[in-house]
Amino acid sequence: MPNSKGLIFDIQSYSVHDGPGCRTLVFMMGCPLRCGWCANPEGWEARRRLMFRATKCVRPQRKCRRCAPVCPEQAVDGGEKHERIKINWDKCRHCASFACAAACLNEALTVCGREITVEELTRILNRDRHYWGSDGGVTFSGGEPLVQQDFLLAALKRCRESYIHTAIETSAYAPWPVFSDVMANIDFAFIDIKHMDPDQHKNKTGVSNELILNNIRALKANGWPGRLIIRMPVIADFNDSEDNINAMIAFFREIGQNEINILPFHRLGDSKWTQCGMVYPYRDYEATPEHVLDHIQELFLANDILCYVGHETPF
Ligand code: SF4
Ligand code: SF4
Repeated sequence: MPNSKGLIFDIQSYSVHDGPGCRTLVFMMGCPLRCGWCANPEGWEARRRLMFRATKCVRPQRKCRRCAPVCPEQAVDGGEKHERIKINWDKCRHCASFACAAACLNEALTVCGREITVEELTRILNRDRHYWGSDGGVTFSGGEPLVQQDFLLAALKRCRESYIHTAIETSAYAPWPVFSDVMANIDFAFIDIKHMDPDQHKNKTGVSNELILNNIRALKANGWPGRLIIRMPVIADFNDSEDNINAMIAFFREIGQNEINILPFHRLGDSKWTQCGMVYPYRDYEATPEHVLDHIQELFLANDILCYVGHETPF
């Protein structure tokens, strides 16, 4: 069966913030967007990749040098005796050996990403379902789950056969046939809208919002029977203006949508950017102040749109 394997970077059981009830989260690799505030940059590319936790490297204390000699690309700079190693990420990018991670005894070098079959995933979900309660189920997240459409569809169909409640966290950035096929097998969806202006959206995420908005329009117009929550990460100097919120309210009116979840900005992804060899562009940004969240919530509520704030919101 083609594409019966998916590439994931994590599975988390017992989540209570990503859909109704208690849920199992499946983090799938690959994403077409490049948001600078992303908390999971290790999931951007649909490939296994190296991560380096410099604080775990014991070279300064113990003069360890296990990784450098085994790297087939000479991508590890052993440096002076008492320095931590440095990775040449350009050379490392296409590695398939990950010999360095196998050699490292301290989990300073680890491989992110692994293949999983629908059968293995089904076994994990059937193990977890005893803890979900009556409302819970599985939530596919990422990365962007739509990138691995064949595996996702196969997994969703297996969930349907097993009466498992299905949810997705998605940007909706995929061709309509892909998006609609997946959504036909989904019970509950969080869809992100980062900005209502196509140019602003492209400027901060790398892609325009037109495909996203058109997919949401078509989903609603076709009478999709699931529950849709639009999500918006609140990013200062980008999407927190009244103009943008009012444009979103107008869009909600147009499509008949009445629920949104706004998420305050946080810097939790910072260390992961460093571990992936990237510079986090939002390092100097503060967490979204409460008065900003309150004001945005008031604007939505004044227009009869339910506005939930933060992750700890029961759905
Ligand atoms: S992942 Fe491969 S190329 Fe990169 S440092 Fe390790 S062994 Fe070298
Ligand atoms: S093998 Fe691990 S601990 Fe040793 S130098 Fe390399 S990264 Fe550091």
